[in-house]
Order: sequence, then C-alpha cells, then structure tokens
Amino acid sequence: MLELKHIVKRYDYQKVLDDINIVFPDCGIVSIIGPSGCGKSTLLNIIGGIDDDFQGDLLLNDKSVKNHLASYRRHHVSFIFQQFHLIMWLSVKENVALPQFFHPQEKQQILLDLDDLEEAKMKDLSLGQRQRLAYLRSRYHLSDILLCDEPTGSLDPEHSDQVMQLLKEESQNRLVILVSHNKELVEKYSDEIYEMKDGNIIAHHLLHMPIKHFNKPKSTSKIYFSHLRLSLSSLLSHKARSFQLVFGLCVSILCIVFTLTLSTNLEQELIDYVYSLVPASSISFQTSNHESLTLDTIDQLNDYSNIIKAEMYLDDYEFLGISFTGERYQESNTLFIGDDTSPYDDLQLEIGTYPNENYEILVSLSTAKYLCQDTDLSELIDKKVYGWYQYELTVKAIEYKIVGITNQSTTLDTIYTMNHAYIYLLADVYDYDITNISASLGILYVNKDSDRSKVIEQLQNDYPSYQFKEVGSSTAQSISDTMQQVRMILLVFSFLAILSSLFLIGEVMFLNIVQKKKDLAIMKCFGASTWDIMRIVLYESLEIVLLAQIFSTILYLNCISLLNNIVSDVLLNDTFAFQADFRILAIVYILSYVLIFISQIPPLLYVLRLNTVNALKE
Ligand code: ADP
Ligand code: MG
Repeated sequence: MLELKHIVKRYDYQKVLDDINIVFPDCGIVSIIGPSGCGKSTLLNIIGGIDDDFQGDLLLNDKSVKNHLASYRRHHVSFIFQQFHLIMWLSVKENVALPQFFHPQEKQQILLDLDDLEEAKMKDLSLGQRQRLAYLRSRYHLSDILLCDEPTGSLDPEHSDQVMQLLKEESQNRLVILVSHNKELVEKYSDEIYEMKDGNIIAHHLLHMPIKHFNKPKSTSKIYFSHLRLSLSSLLSHKARSFQLVFGLCVSILCIVFTLTLSTNLEQELIDYVYSLVPASSISFQTSNHESLTLDTIDQLNDYSNIIKAEMYLDDYEFLGISFTGERYQESNTLFIGDDTSPYDDLQLEIGTYPNENYEILVSLSTAKYLCQDTDLSELIDKKVYGWYQYELTVKAIEYKIVGITNQSTTLDTIYTMNHAYIYLLADVYDYDITNISASLGILYVNKDSDRSKVIEQLQNDYPSYQFKEVGSSTAQSISDTMQQVRMILLVFSFLAILSSLFLIGEVMFLNIVQKKKDLAIMKCFGASTWDIMRIVLYESLEIVLLAQIFSTILYLNCISLLNNIVSDVLLNDTFAFQADFRILAIVYILSYVLIFISQIPPLLYVLRLNTVNALKE
C-alpha cells in the first residue's frame, strides 16, 4: 500500500504541490486529472521516486522510502512516459529489457511478443511501435506500481483505447497511477479519480473496488556484465568520437613509450660504444713507484681464474698498424690498429683457426672486411701481414700471419695475438733483452661474469705496490648522467602529452554525458542507481584506454621491428637493434589508468548531481 503524506513541492519559492495526502490501493487504475500546469507530473515524479527534493513523506507498506529511493524504484516502480523515453543507442531488445540490466528480473514471455520488432533499428520505429516498446518495457519489470504520464497523449483515439485496455489488464495485479487530461478515457477505465487544481486535490471519486490477483513469483534471471554491455553500447553509439579518442590516446602513449625506449636504447648503445673503445671488462694498472712492469708479474696475473688476459705496453715501441707490403713503412697503405690487446678465448671464429704461434694472429670481422675489400674473406686466411712498430726513429715490421677471423664487429680495427707475442717477436727484430724491458702500463681483461670492482679489490690486496683502475667507467657514467637528464626532459614532455590527451578524454566524456543525460535519467527510472550510472561512465573511459593500449602495443611492436629493419638496411649495421621494453609499457599503462581516474572526476560529479526530473524534460 502506497501512501503520500503531506507532500509539498516548491520551485523557487513557488508552491507547485501543497500538502497532498493520498492513500493508494494495491491495484486498480487511479487517475489524476487536472488542467495543464496544476502539478500532475510533478506529483507523479515524486511517487516514482525520481524526484527527491520535496517535503512530506512517501510510505510503502507503512515504511518511509524517502531515503532509499533508488532501491524503491528498482523494486517497486515502473514507468510509461508520454514521450516514451526510449534509449536510441540501445537495441530494441535492450530497451525492453532495460530494468534487467540493473536488477534480476523474472523471465518474461514478453520478449517473444517482440517478433517483428526485434531486429529493427530504434530510429526506424514508428510512433505506434515506440509506444508498444515503452509498454513492453514497463511490463518487463513486474513492479507493484506502474506510473503513466499521459500515456495516450500522442496517440489517436483507436490506439488510445488499446493502450487503456492493456493498462486495465495490468491493473488487475498492480497499481496503475495514470496522469491524463483526457477526462472521457479516464472516466471509462479508472477505478479511482483524483482531481487537481493549482497543486491541490480538489475532488476524489471512488468508482470501483478492484480485487488484486496475486501472481506467483517466478525464478529471476539477470544480465551478466550489464554495466560493461551498456558502456560498450554507449561507446559504439558515437563511433567517430570514440575512435578519435582512442587514436589521440594511442598517439600520446606511443610518443611516451618511444621516447623512453629510444633514449634507453640509445644510452645502452652509447655505453656499448664507449666500452667497445675501452672494453668494459678491462682494468689498467701500473706500479705506484714508476718501476717497470715485468713479464713475470703479467704471467702471474694471467693465472687468476677471473682474469682472461693480462698484457703490457712497451713504453718505447709504438704500434703503427698493419699492411700487406713489407718492403718499407708507408702510412698511406697501413691500417691503423686501435686494439691489439683484447683476448679472443671467448670469441667464435667466422673462419680459420686460433693462433698456435706468436706470429699467428686473428682479425676481427669488421677489420677483415675492410682488409679484403670486396673479395672473399677466406682469401685472408694464411695471408702474411706486416705489423709496423716504431722505436725512436726507426720503423721495423714483424711478419704476422692471419690464421682466423672472429665473428665480432669491432668499432676499432682489431687484431688478436697470443699473450705478449709482440714482445717476443719485437725482441728478435730489435734485438733486445726480454728480461730488461721497460713497461709502465698494463691492461687486464676480467671475465664478464665477475665484478670488476671486486677483482680490483682483490688485486689491490695481492699487489699493494700497483695501482689498478677501471677503464671507461667514468665516461660511461657521464653518458648515463647526461642521458638521464635528456630522458627527464623528454619524460616531462611526453607526460604532458599523455596528460592532455587523458584530460581531453575526460572533457569529451563530460560532453558525452551532458548529451546523454536524458538516457542516463531514463536508466535511473528503470532501476539504475547513481552508482550504476557512474560505473557505466567509468567503464566507457576505461574501454577507450584499453583499446588505445591494445593498439599502441601492436603499433609499438611493429614500429620497433620496422625501425630495426631500416637500421640494418640503411646503416648496414646489425650489431644495433632497438629492444621493445615491456617494463616501460607497463609503467605507462598503469600511469594512464591512474590519470584516467583523475580525469573522470568531473563527469562522475556531473552524474552524481544529475537531476533526473530535469534531465527527462530535455
Ligand atoms: P502538469 O503536469 O500538471 O501539466 P507540472 O507538474 O509539469 O504540471 O508543472 C506544475 C508547475 O510546476 C507548473 O507551473 C510548472 O511551470 C512548474 N514547474 C515544473 N517544472 C519546473 C521547473 N523545473 N522549474 C520551475 N518550475 C517548474
Ligand atoms: Mg505534465
């Protein structure tokens, strides 16, 4: 039993309803009639629980429902509006089943009656068909109370009669409250009539006493992922706009991930470059009292398990390079060798064998390619080359033989020799005493797996009179520092890009909601709570972000491989490849979710403050 107690409603201090008291029966048609503007619709909105701004109380079975209107609507009320209030971007079926999206409903036979309409598009429906849908929707929800605001207002007399007939049937097992100004129809079908004028009830006629036929409750069924489905429908209802948003966000995400990926890759490449000039695993050493290093010490160092190779530089002999002619030194046909100390033990050979004799050498792949120009690499094997060394003013050559080519491309031209090979070979050429050489600087190559600083610590302990230093670490550090700064700047800009596109989404979603507020209000009439609506709005934004993320991931991976193809084609450099960094992707994606939540605050606040009654009037 529904009861209105002292209902007063004001619009800007104008009393539209003045102390309305009505006790409704459990079933039958109760009509409210009166001239236009007397407050009928206002009263109906209050009864329907879509207007919460009134004084007085609304009681259902003697309990006030004023403070839980959403649940009251959801469980007890259904509507038929004069303008039908169908949601154009949902399908016919979804429109009819709208209440089920927010509350499990009894399985209804009604859907079967849709037959011819089911496949039709909402916008193609005629007025009569829309009326039928609105009616089916109100029936779909077997509520206790059915509210009809001028349900026949836009129908011809024949259809009006049909609708009233249907309402009469409905009124056998629920309360139908009807607002109309068609006095003739009302008098023909109503069980009870209230007449209103200027916000007051001025007359009450009781025509019949209907008896309620109770329905057996049936099993209920609900729609799964209902909010998700509604939000997807909403997203698809403005495809062009959604696509623009997805595209915009996608571009900003790509901007930020590429910025980060390229800068990290570039940093790694630069550091690799530095270390290819001065190997990352190398340690330089010298005696602290400027005494000469000795071959014995070098050999002792070579015995350490984590040292791959130890070598020293003879102070007075300068390596000028290698050439194929041995008659006399000519700078123009001599290839300067930047590195002749690196170890080769852990390198694979492209062709040839490892050296067995002091005069046998390997060359790096890049150096070999340079040496043989366009001819076959294998022509280099067993070829004689002359290594030119200068001592004071004389230049003499050591005769080397190339026995193999490593698979390593090196930044500097490189030959690999056996331990101190050149020291023994030079002794023959220049005729010096090998025990009496002077060398102040040596270099060590540490196993890649061992920690350089630990090795230095150990060496420093074992050889306190030597000084050991990491090579290249300070340069690499300063590159890292510089790149860090560059990255910070790039990050700030990319962050701004992503921020602006997310706020654009917030803005567009806001406009979306403003545009759709009537549809949202309709959902509220059919059982949606404010929280339901907020979820739909939020899901729609999240779907945009998710779509953008999927597209960006696909584009990102493709662009990286495209870039790598270009790099290897154009630069003929296959040592450098961009790496897709999923850590960066993950961070950016999490960040975009955080930001989207922030950007959704204005639209969500709008939903929170949405005035259902006003929105329905739009
Ligand atoms: P009816 O349905 O009986 O034609 P309404 O209930 O729609 O009348 O309106 C009753 C009165 O309240 C009218 O005078 C109308 O001008 C006024 N009114 C309705 N809605 C608003 C509103 N949002 N703001 C101010 N006045 C309103
Ligand atoms: Mg009205």
